[in-house]
Amino acid sequence: MKACVWVLVASCGWMVPGCGARVVTWTPPDDPPPGAAVDAGLPPPVDAGTTAPAPAPAPVLHSRFPQLPDQGGPRMHHPQLVAITWADDPRAAADEALTRYLAGSPWLALVGQDYGVGAGTMLGAVRRPGAAPAVMTDAEIEAGLVADVREGVLPSAADGRFDETLYIVFVPGGTRVTQGNDTFRATSCMDFLGYHGAAGVAPSRFAYAVAVACDDPITLDAMGHPVGGVGTDSLLQVTTSHELIEAATDPDPLVAPAYEFRPSDGQPWTEFGPEIGDLCAERYVPMDGYLLQRAWSNRAAAEGRFPCAPLSPDGT
Ligand SMILES: [Zn+2]
Repeated sequence: MKACVWVLVASCGWMVPGCGARVVTWTPPDDPPPGAAVDAGLPPPVDAGTTAPAPAPAPVLHSRFPQLPDQGGPRMHHPQLVAITWADDPRAAADEALTRYLAGSPWLALVGQDYGVGAGTMLGAVRRPGAAPAVMTDAEIEAGLVADVREGVLPSAADGRFDETLYIVFVPGGTRVTQGNDTFRATSCMDFLGYHGAAGVAPSRFAYAVAVACDDPITLDAMGHPVGGVGTDSLLQVTTSHELIEAATDPDPLVAPAYEFRPSDGQPWTEFGPEIGDLCAERYVPMDGYLLQRAWSNRAAAEGRFPCAPLSPDGT
């Protein structure tokens, strides 16, 4: 069963950066010390030594923002990341560096703290030989991952478990990824920038994410305002961080959903998407030279504050 989530979805209004998105950026007033969260008016990150989810904040009845519900599925506590690239991709080294940075970043500790997600580690990096195919279907990507995990081509955790492991496939911009069938087909860089899901069979079922290096030309939104234009590097950083925090808080969205809205929740906020990054789509934060996805904070929402962490200096 294919298990992928429309992260940056076919609808432009839902697709995050490259499709008519407005980039909201700001610079923190001071560089945070290594390992420290940018001051967003939020409590310190979850203790990296604990594996228990942070206690849910007490809801405030008059808050105008909803709580992203815990649907009961597993989530990662200390994600173990594996960067998968192609040897001929000139971005391979940068993609691996981004993965390594994200694993131990203050950003991950900050956006994960409300959900029991703390600092992660870099489990490994694998460069597939040669160049990526010109076209890949999501089913082919998934089948390749399953085979590589089974044959030990991809590194796995020392304890043999996969519940903290995230395989991130970095697809070069020259490769087109397609999803769907002849009735409904979505294409990377036009309909989506990335997605995440889970594959394989328990106890070897694992989470994965796909991030495509898409161009980001400046375009006009429906109101005629120029949007986009952050560049391919920044756009890929947003996509990768978006998929990482969503995979950590909702690793197996179709089989065992965790932090996400379900259609049965009847939540109008799902117009933006069902997961933690979707709800803050188009809102990014510059950090340590990267441009990263901001994410929904249940604590801030409960307190009636603007719910996308980290907050900008003006509180939005
Ligand atoms: Zn998403």
